[in-house]
Amino acid sequence: MTNSDNQPTLKIIPLGGLHEIGKNTCVFEYGDEIVLLDAGLAFPTEGMHGVNIVLPDMTYLRENRHKIKGMIVTHGHEDHIGGIPYHLKQFEIPVIYGPRLAMSLLRDKLEETGVSDRTTLKSVLPRENCAHWAAFFPLNIFATPHSIADSFTVAIHTPLGVVIHTGDFKIDHTPVDGEFFDLQRLAEHGEQGVLCLLSDSTNAEVPGSTPSERSVYPNLDRIFYQAKGRLMVTTFASSVHRINLILELAQKHQRKVAVVGRSMLNVIAHARNLGYIKCPRRPF
Ligand SMILES: [Zn+2]
Repeated sequence: MTNSDNQPTLKIIPLGGLHEIGKNTCVFEYGDEIVLLDAGLAFPTEGMHGVNIVLPDMTYLRENRHKIKGMIVTHGHEDHIGGIPYHLKQFEIPVIYGPRLAMSLLRDKLEETGVSDRTTLKSVLPRENCAHWAAFFPLNIFATPHSIADSFTVAIHTPLGVVIHTGDFKIDHTPVDGEFFDLQRLAEHGEQGVLCLLSDSTNAEVPGSTPSERSVYPNLDRIFYQAKGRLMVTTFASSVHRINLILELAQKHQRKVAVVGRSMLNVIAHARNLGYIKCPRRPF
């Protein structure tokens, strides 16, 4: 598509994830280049009998597969990376950049589905730049607190201006892992001028602010102290900070921990390897 001056226009096409929870997938297109930001899945709702997962309609990408230069992943939640193995069966993505934990979880998924040869995964760190993947879309990325460790905001430097995509985020001033929202870098982009801000966070329309993850510690500490027998704790497998708090409390109250569930074992193993979860291997 071109405008009246015959210059290419920037297209931003959300294929999923707007006004819904799940299947976050966003397409950026300029000239003959397409880059993707995240590719998630959604879980079926009550009426979807026999359906295991829900994916966005990828017809547009199948038809324009020759333009795809790569993908940037903001974080490792299923609704941001869960669709990638399915899409790789339909088209190749030359390179996927993302935070270390997301890339580590994704590597397993691609191996399980037998599509790891259809892309190259590259872990990147906050404040790193990715300039060589596409002529029209150099990026820089910065740290963003979220319920899973290792989440990014992405600044995409398109020929028409900077587009900021925040990914999912929580502005937590006392984050469990000490990874603060890089508001300084966000402000720098603001001062230089931003063409478009794409920002979406669960409950963003509810007034007030979400308490820090740290605030659950005193209540859990009291429960750990008062409980006489076994203690069962449930949480999302991807809530790495919450799991870290629980393991910290188990250590403090000298309790052994038994982990149940495939996702829980998987995420804990990857997060421990990368140092996001710290606990001794032996009983204490
Ligand atoms: Zn998320």
